[in-house]
Amino acid sequence: MPYSPSDDHGEARVAATLQGFFPGEVMGSLLLTPSGFRGRVWLPAGVPRPVSAITEVGRTVRRLWTKSDSESHLRASTAQIHDRQIRAFGQAGQALIEATRVGIVGVGGTGSPLAEQLVRLGVRDLLLIDRDEVLESSNLSRVYGSAFSDVHPSWWQRVLAKRPRSKVTIVAEHLRAINPHARIRAFRADVTEASAARRLLDCDVIFACTDEHWGRAVLNQIAYQYLIPVVNLGVAIDGPEGTITGAVGVVQVLRPGLGCLWCGNYLNSERIRAESLPPDARQALEAEGYLRGVAEPAPSVVTITTAVAGLAGTLFLQLVTDFMASAGAVARINYFPLEAVAARGRVPVKTPCLCSKVKGKGDLEPLPVVPGRSVA
Ligand SMILES: [Zn+2]
Repeated sequence: MPYSPSDDHGEARVAATLQGFFPGEVMGSLLLTPSGFRGRVWLPAGVPRPVSAITEVGRTVRRLWTKSDSESHLRASTAQIHDRQIRAFGQAGQALIEATRVGIVGVGGTGSPLAEQLVRLGVRDLLLIDRDEVLESSNLSRVYGSAFSDVHPSWWQRVLAKRPRSKVTIVAEHLRAINPHARIRAFRADVTEASAARRLLDCDVIFACTDEHWGRAVLNQIAYQYLIPVVNLGVAIDGPEGTITGAVGVVQVLRPGLGCLWCGNYLNSERIRAESLPPDARQALEAEGYLRGVAEPAPSVVTITTAVAGLAGTLFLQLVTDFMASAGAVARINYFPLEAVAARGRVPVKTPCLCSKVKGKGDLEPLPVVPGRSVA
């Protein structure tokens, strides 16, 4: 049932009045019927836009579609391949996994095993963003899907097999081989570029698997501004003399109600500034000793990065299926390899903080990105 002319008239007046009191705010309305809902939002310009889906973001991310859209987003699950999983989450749970659109930023040590796990779980719509042009030799020890020929192609592989491939292409081709029916989109781009960041806004869940503080700041803001849960993954290993002196793996869920990366002091604005400088200016800062850890490779171990990816993938299952029920409102998991311990962590919401300032603002607030063109 559509909105009636009297709805149109009344809502336009209410929207104008409310926006007079709260300039720049958005007003929304819902029309509930026994068979579904319709909705629209009134932007400050005064033109209503229809709502195609409502997403409830809490300990789960649940998406309700307007009637016309619902059928195309619920596919029959591929029962045989996922038989063992269906025994854990049921047909309904499997359908939810398969209907979820996922973005992964950074397909290195944590991003590539996570991407593989998600495709094996049945995720059929995956957007991969990674800026690396070529795979370095050291990536072979951590990047799932990479092969010896990607770092040491023979002459005929260079000519006939289009080697070397970019990191994001390698991972995407590997995933397509696992499920040729999945929609795997790969973009070689930096998420700090506007065009790359905007591609993520259609995702239901985003994973931040990048080491860069600037990129993580962009994703952190998207989580609260666009109400899209972002799961941040990180691994830090200290081993200055070839001995591990400290190691922690972290999985943190960013969404309204939970503290953001700024709330927890996990982002460094000086480092973001350094990352945004041209390469020669950055090198000068490093040479002067003002900056450490931007260009210097950190220790990394595939078993530890994979363990962190597994923790994040399991949290994805919670976000989609709610299998953990009341225990599922997880803010953070800390994994300490030196102690063989994984434990829940807390991240209190700070006020004031960017996360409350931009919450739900969508396109009304700018993201901390630069104009740029992503390379497909
Ligand atoms: Zn915050």
